[in-house]
Order: sequence, then C-alpha cells, then structure tokens
Amino acid sequence: MTYDAVVIGAGFGGLGTALTLAEGGAEVVLCEALKYPGGCASTFSRDGYRFDAGATLLSGLGEAQLFGRWLARYTPGTEIDWLDPAVELRAPGLTLKVRRERGAVEAQLAALPGAPREGLRGFFAEQRAIAEVLWKVLDSPEHLPPFDAASLWHHARRALSYAPLAKLLGRPLERVMRAHRVEGFAPLRLYADAVCQITVQCAASEAEALFAFAALDYCYRGTGHLRGGVGTLADALLSAVSLQRGTVSLANQVRHLRYEPSERLWHVEARRGPLRARAVVANLLPGALASMLTEPAARSRVERRLGGLTAGLDDAWGAAMLYLGVEPPPGAPAHAHHLQLVADPQAPLIEGNHVFASISGADEPQRAPPGQRTVTVSTHVPLKKLPEARAAGDYVRGVQDAMRATLAARAPEWMQGVRHQLPASPRTFARFVGRPGGAVGGLPRRAGLVSYAHPGPREVLPGLWLVGDSVFPGQSALAAAVGGVRTARAVERSL
Ligand SMILES: Cc1cc2nc3c(=O)[nH]c(=O)nc-3n(C[C@H](O)[C@H](O)[C@H](O)COP(=O)(O)OP(=O)(O)OC[C@H]3O[C@@H](n4cnc5c(N)ncnc54)[C@H](O)[C@@H]3O)c2cc1C
Repeated sequence: MTYDAVVIGAGFGGLGTALTLAEGGAEVVLCEALKYPGGCASTFSRDGYRFDAGATLLSGLGEAQLFGRWLARYTPGTEIDWLDPAVELRAPGLTLKVRRERGAVEAQLAALPGAPREGLRGFFAEQRAIAEVLWKVLDSPEHLPPFDAASLWHHARRALSYAPLAKLLGRPLERVMRAHRVEGFAPLRLYADAVCQITVQCAASEAEALFAFAALDYCYRGTGHLRGGVGTLADALLSAVSLQRGTVSLANQVRHLRYEPSERLWHVEARRGPLRARAVVANLLPGALASMLTEPAARSRVERRLGGLTAGLDDAWGAAMLYLGVEPPPGAPAHAHHLQLVADPQAPLIEGNHVFASISGADEPQRAPPGQRTVTVSTHVPLKKLPEARAAGDYVRGVQDAMRATLAARAPEWMQGVRHQLPASPRTFARFVGRPGGAVGGLPRRAGLVSYAHPGPREVLPGLWLVGDSVFPGQSALAAAVGGVRTARAVERSL
C-alpha cells in the first residue's frame, strides 16, 4: 500500500505529527524502533521498576492547552497530579519552593536578606507580561508559521502587544536582569540559571531573553505529574493515532530512505519490510536523517541544509542519568515530587553539580516493588568533553559520582534507602533513542537571532520533513509536539 505519510519515530514530535495527520484523514504510518513510544519522554520497565527515561515533568496539560485537549479527547480518565510546589530548588543556604501560585517565588526571594525588592518587582512584572504573550502562541500551534490568512489576522490584531518583545529579541537574559538591577542578587541568579539550564539549555548569562522569560513561566503553564510516568501521555497519543485510523508499527526501525522521482514517492526500508509514501516526516536528529538517505546527492544536500543544526548539536548536551529504586524515608510525602539540587552555586550547573531528581508517588504502586519509589536523576554533560576524555567511561562515572554526592548533600533523606541503581550515559540515549552522539534537549537557545532563522516547519527535500526538539520551537516534549502539529499542517497542504 502507498501511504500519504510515513512518520519515523514516536517521540513527541512524531506523535504530534502522526496524530494531526490521522485526525485530518491522511493515510499515515508511524514507525518506532522501540517497543514503546515517547523517546526521551518515555517510561521504560527494568528489573521490576517503571522509570521515566529523561523528561519527568510536562507542561501543556491544562484544559485549553495542546496535551490537555488531546487527553480530554482520547483518554479523559488520565490522572494528573498538579503538584504544589511543582519543583523544590535546594542549594547551600537556599530552599525555594516553585509554587503554582504566581508571585510565590518572587515573595520568597523578596523575603531574603538584602533582596532588591523594587528590582525584583520590575523584573518579574516584565517576565510575566512577556511570557503571557509567548505562551498564547505555544498553546495554539495554529499561530506559529507557516501562516495562513486566519493566523495573519490573529497576529495583526495583536501587533501592539508584540512591541515589548522586539527590544528583548536576541538579547541575553542577564542584560534584562542588569536593567532591573537584580543581576547581583545571588538567589535570583541561581533560580534563573537553574530554570534556564533545564529549559533553554544554558545559563542566564547566555540564554536568549524571550525563550528564558517563557521558560521562567513553565510551572504556571499546565505543568503536572502524570500518574504512572510521562510514558502515560505517549501511550495515550499512540492509541489516539490508531483510533484515528493511523497505522502504528512498533519495534520497526527505519533504516534507509530513497526518493523515486518517476513515481513521486519515497521508498522507506524498515525492519518489518518496505513502505512507500508521498511524504516522510523524520522525528530524528539531522545527522540521523542524513545518514538514512541512500542517494549520495540527496544526502549531501540534506547535510548542507542541516549543517548548521548538526554543528549546533555538537556543541550541545548529553545527559548522565541515575535511575534509583528507593525505600522512602519516614515521613516522606506520599505524592510525587521533583527536586532541583545544586552542590556549589558558584560552579556551572552541569556535570553532577546540579541534578534534577524526580520521585514517583506512593500512589503509583505499579512503578516499583512494594514499599519502594522510583527516582529519575539527570544532569547535563557537555558532549564535546566526551571524545576528548581519554576514557569516556571514566569521565561519565565521575559525573555519576558527583550526582550521588549532590544527592547525598542536598537530599540525604532519599539516599539512605537506595535499593537499586541503574546508571545511564549519552551512549544510552544514542543506543536506545537513536540520538547520534547522545545529543539531547535540542539546541541551546543562546542570545542572538539564530534561534529564529527557521521558525516554520523544516522541509529538507521535497516531501521530506524534520521534526523534533532540534527544530523550532525546540526543546521540551510540548514544544516538540507543537512543532509536529505545525509540520503536519504543512504536509497536509503539500499533499
Ligand atoms: C534527561 C532529560 C530530561 C528532560 N526533562 C524534560 C522535562 O522534564 N520536561 C520536558 O518537557 N522535556 C524534558 N526533556 C526534553 C524532552 O524529553 C525532549 O525535548 C523531547 O522529548 C524530544 O522529543 P523528540 O520528538 O525530539 O524526539 P525523541 O524523544 O528523541 O524521539 C525520537 C523517537 O524516534 C525513535 N527513532 C529513532 N530512530 C529511529 C528509526 N531509525 N526508526 C524508527 N524510530 C526511530 C526513537 O526510538 C524515539 O522514540 C528532557 C530530556 C532529557 C534527555
């Protein structure tokens, strides 16, 4: 059979694309190499535990938001814990609860000795106003490029509200902090650095102000904990693709792609057999897509077109992980919770000095043997250090030791009851989710205009599209899914 579209990969970019295409009536097949969906935002089973592989806390689950709308439509019974605080930041001399109530972070910071209260008020007022404008776009994929008459009219009516964005475009967040005279206030600095590192993937000194302002709002934007793990959402979306008469093909790795001009079709060679389609959407990193093309000319064209992205990813991040099975300490909260832990605030928030630790709830018994909870712990590792290290394995083990030390220093209550440990490295992400070199988290959104160079769907050859966290709007499960929806609309038009 000839499909309208083959979607390669059931990460959130591929799921968003396949579901939107299937909802629109296209004949679509979604091929996933693993036996389960979600990629970096999946939940896997090992040794009697159900661990979140990478992502643990998703935004966009609110009723009017993309994930919320999909869940309401396809699996209305999905249980979401609206944790409060969403995250607790712990560093020497500082515990900051990132509460759901807007203003709570500012109030905690303002109550600290020596706090520049006026400056904080101005900084958070500006951040909130900007985030309000940006999240409206993220919540409604139809407002992102490519624009049609309706979206152009939508933006034209709001043109005035976009004016404040212009002066921040391309600037580093640090400069905005300086304008409010808060850049020297260490607790705010640490909070901004910690949020920026896990979202826009760099420190506040480098982070582009608009991306950073949107990221600082994440805990107010339908951010919740999915009971059973983040994979619950990926499973729901996969079922939705089938329900909409799309074909789902798990454990079906795609190996090669070739365009046949005489038929105007893409020939897709996959583990379970060949497929043909008018369009292919690849939920892959650019290098992985290029290496699939059997035609040398096509491959070098794609390499040239996506060269900037590939180079950007070389300078990006991998993740070192610890998946722990833990007996909870006496008096531990029964609900899931998320800790952001910093050993030394003066040092970069990477390589185990800063970890994100997500603890499953006692009310998720399917996730661990009786009496235990799972903890997914991650930290950033600069990929460029890996090949340089004489023994990459030693380097990663050193980072994992640093992660354990940070956990022991900032969350000792959880380290006492560790019963099971499963470490993972960039190599694990390369092997399991097919991310060349183990690059995760997309391109860091550093100051400058490069992040805005390609705001629309990326058609890299006629009928061949790239989705996922390396393309606009970028990192996070929600952003990858939003990009998938936009790409599906563009594919529909082209078909
Ligand atoms: C440690 C860590 C923590 C994170 N925390 C968060 C968080 O808390 N919240 C958040 O929103 N985001 C978080 N992120 C980011 C988020 O997980 C990713 O940005 C997002 O999930 C990426 O989705 P994607 O669609 O780009 O692709 P991926 O998740 O990489 O999915 C690609 C899919 O394609 C499949 N595939 C690959 N090659 C082939 C092939 N040849 N044939 C068939 N299938 C193939 C893979 O198996 C995979 O399922 C985190 C990421 C990491 C690594």
